[in-house]
Amino acid sequence: MERRICTSIADLLDMLFKLATPYMTLHLNSRVVSLKPDLARVTLTSGKTFQGDVILGADGVKSMIREVVLGRPDKPLPTGDAAYRAIVPTSEEDTRRRDRNDELELF
Ligand SMILES: Cc1cc2nc3c(=O)[nH]c(=O)nc-3n(C[C@H](O)[C@H](O)[C@H](O)COP(=O)(O)OP(=O)(O)OC[C@H]3O[C@@H](n4cnc5c(N)ncnc54)[C@H](O)[C@@H]3O)c2cc1C
Repeated sequence: MERRICTSIADLLDMLFKLATPYMTLHLNSRVVSLKPDLARVTLTSGKTFQGDVILGADGVKSMIREVVLGRPDKPLPTGDAAYRAIVPTSEEDTRRRDRNDELELF
């Protein structure tokens, strides 16, 4: 049977952050303005450079790194699709289950 786990994006990011923390140094307020993929080197707006083994491009839908990899502009295009979002208050029982790490399914 397919298993689904429902969680908030904030909880997911918090979990990933806690798992990664022992293995990383986090630099906030560090916008990458250019990179050299062959050297795995990035340059920040401050002029500071970082060099590593690989660059993991995770800079979102307006990714600058994707354009460097592709060697051409790659702006996001509107698809015409729409997403409707809503916030639904959950019951106290749902909150208790979540706090006990029980599986919580919302439909
Ligand atoms: C209002 C809203 C609600 C959403 N709700 C949900 C949801 O409930 N469930 C779900 O699954 N998805 C949701 N999404 C979609 C989800 O947020 C995205 O699919 C997801 O965040 C994409 O992850 P990403 O890591 O590719 O990019 P992002 O989360 O956009 O992360 C990219 C990061 O790169 C950084 N960055 C960009 N350029 C540079 C640069 N040059 N130098 C340094 N850093 C840079 C940005 O500051 C950002 O921190 C939602 C999106 C929005 C806008």
